[in-house]
Amino acid sequence: MNYNKKTVKDIDVAGKKVLLRCDFNVPQDKATGAITDDKRIRAALPTIQYLLDQNAAVIACSHLGKPVATFDSYVKKQAEKGKDPASITEEEWKKSLAKLSLAPVAKRLSELLGREVIMAADVVGPDAQAKAAALKPGQVLLLENTRFEKGETKNDPALAKAMADMAEVYVSDAFGAVHRAHASTAGVAAYLPAVSGFLIQKELEIIGGALANPKRPLVAILGGSKVSSKIGVINNLLEIADTIIIGGGMTYTFLKAQGGSIGKSLLEADWLDYCNDMMKKAKEKGVKLLLPEDTICAKEFSADAEPILVDSMNIPDDCMGMDIGPKAIAAYADAVKDAGTVIWNGPMGVFEFPAFAKGTQAVAEALSNSSAITIIGGGDSAAAVQQLGYADKMTHISTGGGASLEFMEGKELPGVACLLDA
Ligand code: ADP
Ligand code: MG
Repeated sequence: MNYNKKTVKDIDVAGKKVLLRCDFNVPQDKATGAITDDKRIRAALPTIQYLLDQNAAVIACSHLGKPVATFDSYVKKQAEKGKDPASITEEEWKKSLAKLSLAPVAKRLSELLGREVIMAADVVGPDAQAKAAALKPGQVLLLENTRFEKGETKNDPALAKAMADMAEVYVSDAFGAVHRAHASTAGVAAYLPAVSGFLIQKELEIIGGALANPKRPLVAILGGSKVSSKIGVINNLLEIADTIIIGGGMTYTFLKAQGGSIGKSLLEADWLDYCNDMMKKAKEKGVKLLLPEDTICAKEFSADAEPILVDSMNIPDDCMGMDIGPKAIAAYADAVKDAGTVIWNGPMGVFEFPAFAKGTQAVAEALSNSSAITIIGGGDSAAAVQQLGYADKMTHISTGGGASLEFMEGKELPGVACLLDA
């Protein structure tokens, strides 16, 4: 697919102030706040480095986690969790915000860039305004967590304009947030020339290319926990793929729809008819839709439950499906062996428990041995591939779980649609 949006290379940024939306929504250790994976910070470096090489002044911004932006809503949220509203203090709320400060990101970014990153105490408040005004070409400023502003998730035009007023050009490189129309991801583009950075370009070229003009056969591996969250993807990929492989928790709704006994396995009863429709549609279109012939199940959902191998259509009443079995592994590995392109979204089983990670591991192994273009979308799938040690064997691991999912569903991404056409 030809990427059809302007990028930083198509616009003059020399000596200019550039507002750069990044996805610095990094995982942190709950107790210490330490960043446990800096992949997303690293993924932003090529664009930041390019802007600095062009002598731009970079005003970076991002959200982090889900802070509650006002004390009132904080009290409401805590009360919903069963806390006595009268006992909730403003101090407690401020502490919850401090935990989601981007200061640790500024520190890590500074280490990675080998230069100072100035941290602002707010997003569009007096500190940010003063520091942005004083920022010189070649310098980097990081604004505070955009979600500290209540207008962010509401895409408030006043917030978007206040952010835009600090800069002359807007560059978005926050692929992980492009599926959201927020003030800093989309709203701001109404007030500044808006282009993408290299990460968004790369994500859309690779995933978009695989969807629009795949090297065939195109095999889609779909797993994860719920059918309901993957309906859009299954539906869209049925139009494009040659083979669809089903695994993970959503398998059992398919199996039940086909008349199988699934015991205590995950079931979304509302989607039984849908699963049958999908099977029918696949048949009509000549798409191979593979379900696992065998299943590893367990009597309880726990890491040390005993793995029991059964026929997928006959899961005992007191058991739940936890992973695909060896016959399914062999069939799935065979299906990807000669693939031209493989798109994988959703683990094959409860990979967080080592006893039930074999299916996910075997699929990762099969992908790593195949000469196909291999694309991993989905946050948990990306984590599984990383955790199992196959990350550097894949063509592309998306940095945006939700964004890649919506893109694979064929939906428009507001954070991309708002950028200038090439
Ligand atoms: P992704 O983030 O890659 O899109 P999902 O969020 O849809 O994937 O699903 C990931 C989750 O699905 C994992 O936490 C995994 O434990 C769970 N899962 C996979 N197989 C099963 C199963 N058989 N039963 C219950 N949960 C499952
Ligand atoms: Mg997930």
